[in-house]
Amino acid sequence: MIEVFQQHSTFWISTMVILSALVGSFLNVVIYRLPEMMKRQWRCECTEFLELDETAQMIKDKQRFNLSFPVSHCPHCKSSIKPWFNLPVIGYLLIKGKCVNCKQPISPRYPIIEFFTAALGGVIAWYFGVSLDAILLLGFLWALISLTMIDADEKLLPDSITLPLLWVGLLIHINSSWLSSDLLTQITLTESLLGAAAGYMSLWSITFLFKVIRGKEGMGAGDFKLFAVFGAWFGIKALIPIILLSSAVGAVVGITILIIQKKSIDKTTLPFGPYLCGAALLYVFFAADIQNLLFPQL
Ligand SMILES: [Zn+2]
Repeated sequence: MIEVFQQHSTFWISTMVILSALVGSFLNVVIYRLPEMMKRQWRCECTEFLELDETAQMIKDKQRFNLSFPVSHCPHCKSSIKPWFNLPVIGYLLIKGKCVNCKQPISPRYPIIEFFTAALGGVIAWYFGVSLDAILLLGFLWALISLTMIDADEKLLPDSITLPLLWVGLLIHINSSWLSSDLLTQITLTESLLGAAAGYMSLWSITFLFKVIRGKEGMGAGDFKLFAVFGAWFGIKALIPIILLSSAVGAVVGITILIIQKKSIDKTTLPFGPYLCGAALLYVFFAADIQNLLFPQL
């Protein structure tokens, strides 16, 4: 199978595009249900800890709800969606963006996420070729898309995504002979460990100082863990480029949103995760160029 992929790069890329589209469809479920699962659990834990009486909300929270149950259904009329209409992007086009049963429009965000996941998956397969690096970075991409959307929606970066991503980032650098790309082989295990520690500690310290001076939280612990992930995957030297890129993009987007919504900066908390993820993805493709630009070799 690997030989077939190596001989026919278009077959490799198209397989990864289709795989990414199918994963994108699953990511839609993760993005919507994972924060809801976390909130239900928190509410149950709070009620138990405070020894409160069971409320209607708590009875609802205890009902079965996970990534596979209940099956996908229309948010308006609750009728279940036929498997063939669940096909990424195509399913949405077949039903012309409307529920087959009640004709209410279904958000175009689902096919957009599927399309975006498939397109970026194809770019990774093309850029890194048939390699373990490509497989690892596809997993990295899928995790980052979920984190971006969950943080944008709910201002949450779930540990159940960031922590496994951190461990994988450290483990892949144990033996660089498994890998082939400059992006990953040039990082030693020491640089990866230092990257993870420095990533976490740097944002933690900034937030701590911010809290002392301004008396409020500037960033969440999820951001520290996410930054540690990038240090683990791409080494300590990737941290400065990624934070500079994300701050630049974040400032532009943040100011634009504030101007459009006409809210003051104190009343609006902007999630930082999406910018960190965007910057990390740019780094995946342009690491060498970005490094040369920031730290020119004399
Ligand atoms: Zn419906």
